[in-house]
Amino acid sequence: MQHRHQPIWQLSQGHLNLLASCLRKFQHRYLDRLDTSTPLDNHPHQQLGAQFHQLMQQQALGLEIGPLLATDTRLKAWFDAFVATPPPMIEGTRESEHQRLCWQDGYVLVAVYDLLIQNPDQAQILDWKTYALPKRADRLRHHWQTRLYLYLLAETSNYRPEQLSMTYWFAEASRQPEARANFLTFPYTSAWHKQTRQDLNRLLAQLNQGLVAYETGEAMQQVTFTEGKCVSPNHRCEFAERCERRLLEDEALALQDALVDIDAIAEIPLKTN
Ligand code: SF4
Repeated sequence: MQHRHQPIWQLSQGHLNLLASCLRKFQHRYLDRLDTSTPLDNHPHQQLGAQFHQLMQQQALGLEIGPLLATDTRLKAWFDAFVATPPPMIEGTRESEHQRLCWQDGYVLVAVYDLLIQNPDQAQILDWKTYALPKRADRLRHHWQTRLYLYLLAETSNYRPEQLSMTYWFAEASRQPEARANFLTFPYTSAWHKQTRQDLNRLLAQLNQGLVAYETGEAMQQVTFTEGKCVSPNHRCEFAERCERRLLEDEALALQDALVDIDAIAEIPLKTN
């Protein structure tokens, strides 16, 4: 259980993904407040993505969308793609930007659905993505957005898990004729719900332990270097310097060179006479 003197944490899918990735990263970002991410204004695609969500919300509310559509040709293209090839959607009452909250182990879990459709037998969560369908889109099943969103709906409604589903719709995929699909649906199950509850309990217990340790001046747990989350040939965690993972990277590169040398030697044919 969480200690009473600790602040109440409201945890979103972003927090859970960070916690699952590395506790120390969570500490740097949210306790030490070392946010190194670039502001939204500096990411034109993200800014446009936010406008697209606003557009979809306005449209769902029956508000005028013409002026917003006219601000950017990509915005209009995404919207036209949605009108032409929308994802499969159930019949029912529609609510945009719908928020769900629930308490768990002293924390408040929160989700905001781009669109929630409900009827007496089923409910469907929809999420708009303004990029193309990822190559390994099935990995979204393990992403905390999918897991938390479905979990919260099951916990805060009378639906059985089997009556719920979550659909991602990919705007850029809709504009690419060669794309395999422009949506992905995950039907929910009781077994998945149970597994998510267990994983959430474990994650929140780790956070509890980490917060108690942090209060006594101890740093939260780091991932091991060999997991490849700190530095790798294609990636560098923004806290790698602070975590003193640079030297280890050099060592890893040296090790990699050594392995290449060994491979090269092995390929030289051995003399048989
Ligand atoms: S450098 Fe490694 S241990 Fe440090 S925050 Fe990043 S992932 Fe975690």
